[in-house]
Amino acid sequence: MIANKFVSNPSLDEMPRVADVVIIGGGPAGTAALWAIERAAPGTKTVLIEKSDRLGAGSSLASLENFRTCWPAVCLAKQMRRSVDVFRNADEYLGEGATHSIALKQRGYLFCAFNQAQADLLKADVRRLHEIGLNHIEFLDANEVAYRFGWVGSQVIAAKYDPIAGWLDSNALIYKFAQNAHSAQILLGIQEVEITVDHDCVIGVTTPNGFIATSKVVIATGASARKVGRTAGVDLPIVLRPRQSFTTGWRHVEFPEDGPMVIGAAPYPHVRPEAQAGAIFGWEYTWHNKHVGPEYGTNLAHDAMIDPLYPPISLKDPRFPSMVLALLARQFGHKEGQGFGDTRYLRGISHNIGYYVYRDESIAYYVDEQGEKHPYMSERSLIDVHPQVNGLYLSVAHAGHGIMSAPAAGEILASKVLGQSLAEPEYADFGFEATWVDYDEGVL
Ligand SMILES: Cc1cc2nc3c(=O)[nH]c(=O)nc-3n(C[C@H](O)[C@H](O)[C@H](O)COP(=O)(O)OP(=O)(O)OC[C@H]3O[C@@H](n4cnc5c(N)ncnc54)[C@H](O)[C@@H]3O)c2cc1C
Repeated sequence: MIANKFVSNPSLDEMPRVADVVIIGGGPAGTAALWAIERAAPGTKTVLIEKSDRLGAGSSLASLENFRTCWPAVCLAKQMRRSVDVFRNADEYLGEGATHSIALKQRGYLFCAFNQAQADLLKADVRRLHEIGLNHIEFLDANEVAYRFGWVGSQVIAAKYDPIAGWLDSNALIYKFAQNAHSAQILLGIQEVEITVDHDCVIGVTTPNGFIATSKVVIATGASARKVGRTAGVDLPIVLRPRQSFTTGWRHVEFPEDGPMVIGAAPYPHVRPEAQAGAIFGWEYTWHNKHVGPEYGTNLAHDAMIDPLYPPISLKDPRFPSMVLALLARQFGHKEGQGFGDTRYLRGISHNIGYYVYRDESIAYYVDEQGEKHPYMSERSLIDVHPQVNGLYLSVAHAGHGIMSAPAAGEILASKVLGQSLAEPEYADFGFEATWVDYDEGVL
């Protein structure tokens, strides 16, 4: 067995010449694939290539690091259940000490309703979730919310509660995946990669540091996946939407340290405690592409980008933190100076941005009775072999849940790469051919 090895900007001598599988991209998707291949076929010679000088240098840096189990589409529900199982048994799956490192906090997700229509929607959600076996998800009426979470205030008249949900340290998770892929070599700081294809078959990966011969390559480069795909002569069917988050060093005293992730009503601002005294906020607000030129392929039809702008800092909306706080204050009935209306939240903010990567309209649509196609914003990632190039695999389009779904996403990818059957039949829904599945649409 080769010792697990990290090499930064390797010399020609340090470069592996051959590999069974090369994975490009060292975020949650790529490192989970590395880990899962090792578990499914120990000793497989894998090489992971990361552009940055560290792993997890993409969207995970801006993420809230949350996970939840309440997914109404069966494939997603199964993917998250399996992944949470890995998180909860981290020492077993990710090596001794992993439980401590990933610092799992299962404090729940509380989706709040402020009027009867919203309460009815949450009740219908819970009904659907129970139908597919997620019986741990609870509908809480006003009394129950007041009893368990009285500090949210009397504006909240009902809630949906996922008690298994929570958050973890995503950077530690990524490194645990990598460290536990015992046969892997990890190459950091590789600035350019090209997938070399001959007669529609992958034959290797070319980098400025040297060539690696391989018949199997996995693209797991998040928002840069299209660019890497083009080197193999294919145009990957994904689009990008910038998403923001911010962390504060302060939190109003009523919001307890052991409180859950709290999600407001539409347009769904959300917040959870961070560290001892702070909080982390998000809001998937509709992004307008006015700041980005056509060279990034912005397209009004799907309000998304084709190629990423790096670094994405210029896409940050400086009003974002105050807008999220104002939304939360309004929904929870906090006046100026109270709760989310307290300006202390705005001091010392760390404002972050990254991309959500989605399937594009060519692989996420439903067909109506007249045979007309209707694109929709699918939550399903794309984990499959490419239909046109033998040996080219993808683990992309992990939208806003690529951390919470990483273990199962890695296992699905490993099954495809190793030619093994899928652990769950519904995992086929992450393939190219599944253009639509029930209940797979824009959920937080
Ligand atoms: C604001 C925000 C909040 C979020 N909150 C959550 C959350 O609470 N929970 C959750 O599960 N998910 C969340 N996400 C989503 C999550 O971060 C992504 O789904 C996840 O990071 C996708 O993983 P990935 O490995 O596909 O891509 P990335 O994380 O983007 O990683 C891609 C990696 O590939 C590398 N790379 C890029 N190009 C190349 C190249 N040419 N060669 C080699 N390497 C390359 C990058 O440096 C990077 O390390 C959030 C995202 C954002 C932006």
